[in-house]
Amino acid sequence: MSEAKEKKIFAANWKLHKNPDQTREFFKNFLPEAQGLDCEIYFFPPAVSLEAAAGSLKNSKVKFGSQNCYRESQGAFTGEISAQMVKDLGGQLILLGHSERRKIFGEQDVLIAEKLAHVQSLGLTPVFCIGETLEEREAQQVQSVLEKQIHVGLSKADAKKPLVVAYEPVWAIGTGKVATPAQVKETHALVHEVLLAIGFATAPILYGGSVKPDNSKELLQIPHVDGFLVGGASLEPASFLGIARS
Ligand code: PEP
Repeated sequence: MSEAKEKKIFAANWKLHKNPDQTREFFKNFLPEAQGLDCEIYFFPPAVSLEAAAGSLKNSKVKFGSQNCYRESQGAFTGEISAQMVKDLGGQLILLGHSERRKIFGEQDVLIAEKLAHVQSLGLTPVFCIGETLEEREAQQVQSVLEKQIHVGLSKADAKKPLVVAYEPVWAIGTGKVATPAQVKETHALVHEVLLAIGFATAPILYGGSVKPDNSKELLQIPHVDGFLVGGASLEPASFLGIARS
């Protein structure tokens, strides 16, 4: 088992929430409480708060990174985020392919694959999101959708370099509708099989979608659930700590 899989991972996606002051305030309350936790903790603050996060997390084991990046380190790419600049701040991770990036900003699998390879080439860890919509689930397309996202998204990736996968059914993100344990079990087994077949079996697989302190314990018992990617419930120290304590 890879070192990463030995410890559960709890990742916070803050989306477009928390300015630099709010970021520092969060960590002032969160870090003393998180000290005894034997797990990996990741934070993805908005880009303008990365420097505040870097300052707060300087002497801790908690890792951070951006919610997106471009496939180049610098250049004429107005509005983009550079993984190299995140690295220069001390960031170790980049979230890629989140369903909001795919749906609202039109990101396609091929671009995500290029970004993922770029992030790995810099020695950072991509947290690669996949997931089906409700229409796709109802049309029995879960397997084909996830296979395509994984095959194309990892087509330029290096299996020897760190990678984390996050399975997030789109219909469960921010809706309060968590997938049932049976759905999570079936889909994580499928994701594991697909990753195994292409040489990425050591990548931890996170579940994401309305995870809360009151459902996290049960979900974490499911095979191939190596942790969570959490949106709403990561915005308050108490609820994110409640999840990380599961
Ligand atoms: C997410 O945005 O990745 C997510 C899982 O959000 P939420 O926990 O709010 O459903």
